[in-house]
Amino acid sequence: MRNETIAVQGGYEVDPTTKSAAVPIYQTVAYEFDSAEHGAALFNLEVEGYRYTRISNPTNVVLERRVTALEGGLEALSVSTGQAALHFAVLNLTSSGTNIISVPQLYGTTHTLFAHILPKLGILVRFAGSDQASDIEKLIDAQTRAVFCESVGNPAGNICDVEALAKVAHKHGVPLIVDNTVATPILLRPIEYGADIVLHSLTKFMGGHGTTMGGIIVDGGNFPWEEHAARFPMFSEPDASYHDLVYTTHFGKAAYIARCRSVYQRAMGSVLAPLSAFLLLQGIETVAVRIDRHVENARRTAQFLRADPRVEWVNYVGFADNPYHQLAQKYLGGRACSLLTFGIRGGFEAATRFYDALQLFRRLVNLGDAKSLACHPASTTHRQMSPEEQRQAGVSAELIRLSIGIEHVDDIIADLDQALSAAVGMRAR
Ligand SMILES: *Cc1c(COP(=O)(O)O)cnc(C)c1O
Repeated sequence: MRNETIAVQGGYEVDPTTKSAAVPIYQTVAYEFDSAEHGAALFNLEVEGYRYTRISNPTNVVLERRVTALEGGLEALSVSTGQAALHFAVLNLTSSGTNIISVPQLYGTTHTLFAHILPKLGILVRFAGSDQASDIEKLIDAQTRAVFCESVGNPAGNICDVEALAKVAHKHGVPLIVDNTVATPILLRPIEYGADIVLHSLTKFMGGHGTTMGGIIVDGGNFPWEEHAARFPMFSEPDASYHDLVYTTHFGKAAYIARCRSVYQRAMGSVLAPLSAFLLLQGIETVAVRIDRHVENARRTAQFLRADPRVEWVNYVGFADNPYHQLAQKYLGGRACSLLTFGIRGGFEAATRFYDALQLFRRLVNLGDAKSLACHPASTTHRQMSPEEQRQAGVSAELIRLSIGIEHVDDIIADLDQALSAAVGMRAR
């Protein structure tokens, strides 16, 4: 099936007991055992079934299957937020004394996790000088356990050459982890280009309505853990925390997600509430339709901004002279995400005046809502960074990030027009 169909129907077979057409919300913590023997078999992973919602829940499993299918993966684990997905995805591959290599253009809190929190656990994150595969490769050594990128950087808007990054990672025997939050599988399926692990903040375009937090980790099932057992002994050696289970023996190609669930989700607990899984599934049903509208509205908005003398620059990969335009042709099917940034004439002061004058755009730190949203990273998401770190992350003082919603495009443009006038004190023409 194609993604437009999977988004609506994927991962759910009508409940045999009730014939419920909608995905039921299994609002339960635990599941009864038929007997002591049945309970033991479940704990030994000898039979399939549910034990406790922190480990898995049938509503969450529908979400996991649907996103797995959308990404063309093998298996997934849903978690409470995108940040939990990032944290578990990295912990599952690393230990104290090892490192991962990351592109520099990252979501602000991901940068905080990588630069300040993981290092306290002895896991070092080396930031490459750019998103070029050659800059990544320079930093890989014997202690490297993964390469990390955002397929479309938030808020930098850069598009990573996923195929080239996967090639470099695989040459050195490590997987590529891709945060696909901004692109969504509607615009890009990174596993098709060699990515091994794809993760999402479902909070954004996937849920799509700014109501529900969630995250997910999807494994493509292609990385040969046993072949690289010296780097990744956790998958092919007995796990003392789970009565000596060997993940590659028991779960084969699905070892990565099985360990993530049995070790990190079970013991550290960032479970997604079943009600949230249900709400996210409602959002995902319309993701393909919404993305079409988001993309078209963003294209019209970018053209308006570019033609406006009050605007200094517009960063939008849909323009032929954008440095990432070619990569957008290859990876986004010639489309461009509805996240765009621009700089207003007049620097930081004008940017804050513009921001304060917005009426239709919501002033907040979120993206991927049906509503149009605006964010000023230098005063919010990226304010904890040094100026040099901001520069590397692609953030400047006058930069405004817009997440273009699905309202009528004329209303979107009218709001930008009046806010620009209020900020710069002149009319467009
Ligand atoms: C928002 C976001 C996250 C974090 O997700 P939460 O659900 O807010 O925890 C991670 N990566 C990217 C690219 C994001 O935009």
